Amino acid sequence: MTTITRFAPSPTGNLHVGNIRTALHNWFLARKAGGQFMLRIDDTDAERSREEYVTAIRQDLAWLGLDVDGEERQSKRLDHYETAFQKLKADGRVYRCYETAQELDLKRKVQLGRGLPPIYDRASLQLTEADHIAKSAEGVSPHWRFRLDHDTPITWDDGVRGPQKFDPAQLSDPVIRRADGSWLYMLPSAVDDVEMGITDVLRGEDHVSNTAVQVQMFEAMGAAPPRFAHEALLMGKEGKLSKRLGSLGCDSFRARGIEPEAIVALLARLGTSQPVEPIADRQALIDGFDLGTFGRAPAKFDDADLDRVNTAIVHQMDFAAVAQRLPEGMDEAAWHAIRPNLAIVADAAQWWQIVTGPIELPEFSDEDRAFLAQAASALDFTAADPWHALTAALKDSTGRKGKALFLPLRQALTGMDHGPDMGELLPVLGEDIARRRLERASA
Ligand code: GLU
Repeated sequence: MTTITRFAPSPTGNLHVGNIRTALHNWFLARKAGGQFMLRIDDTDAERSREEYVTAIRQDLAWLGLDVDGEERQSKRLDHYETAFQKLKADGRVYRCYETAQELDLKRKVQLGRGLPPIYDRASLQLTEADHIAKSAEGVSPHWRFRLDHDTPITWDDGVRGPQKFDPAQLSDPVIRRADGSWLYMLPSAVDDVEMGITDVLRGEDHVSNTAVQVQMFEAMGAAPPRFAHEALLMGKEGKLSKRLGSLGCDSFRARGIEPEAIVALLARLGTSQPVEPIADRQALIDGFDLGTFGRAPAKFDDADLDRVNTAIVHQMDFAAVAQRLPEGMDEAAWHAIRPNLAIVADAAQWWQIVTGPIELPEFSDEDRAFLAQAASALDFTAADPWHALTAALKDSTGRKGKALFLPLRQALTGMDHGPDMGELLPVLGEDIARRRLERASA
């Protein structure tokens, strides 16, 4: 059976690092198995769903390199939910309720006050047909609950958490449909998972109790449940991420100069027993992906880790991958000379400025000026490695070594005390600029 996974965001906001991680892991699971990765837009909440977020979700997935093999939208599948619902109704697995939110809240408070778990008491199951007719005559429509089967324990072997067991009597029958006929998350998701042939549902630990209910829904629909895996949630370094999620989306990552490969490399391994490494090779990450390495403790997301991985990824990037984003005229040799000094690709512009000039020179001592004059005439671009040829010649002729040898040259050639490897940078500067700069510094 082909592995089919899905990422099912609600388009009520931008993706954040938490859902990006879920998407990524589902993508890995599918790609490793040679299966399919589906996007499902959970837009049954017409009021909160926005088309701009749907577009943004697709763009973010594309930017991250998470290609999808198909897309479904819940708002286009309402007739499927109706059909499934009618069948559950015929089978007596859904029932009508009228309690208001306030009434339910009060019931829960009373239960908690008595030290009881706040489980729905199924009072509405006692209503007679005459009661329903009376409600209808008052113009009150029911909302609907799914009736859990209390006699069948709920079990599944979770891909991350291991064997799971729930007593259905300890769960509330979930509301699946509102009085206005609209759907809550629970049933549509199970219907889609069946009809889309989803084999693996991988999502956050916050869905464990939904899974318990959905296992019975699959059974009630006559379908085998998919495999389930629930990963520990992502936490910030100092606790909950929730307050910062707005700033942890692809837009702000991009604006900060974070490469998609850095996000992918970090989130692939965060919270697993495998070390986080700056692995830009997507196939290597796919091959190494293994739910068995996922820990039960919350994974800790730290911006500093992301910056660190990003810098290491930038240092590996090929010219072709960045060429479009580099300043006009900056070629492959320049990229290779400058790349090791960058934290983000955009910083290349500042270093390129040093190549193209103008640069500002420090004050040199008379001695250094004499030394730099010698350097200007010793410059030999016919040598295979002009920098090593130059420094070797100057070392011989002046006896200078170490800082006294290298620093005035670097300062004269770049205006800086530190920066790219001069062996790589000198050929990028070229003979004319290098000689002119050395002469100017010696004047
Ligand atoms: N739309 C749901 C969410 O974002 C999907 C959960 C699921 O994976 O089934 O939480």
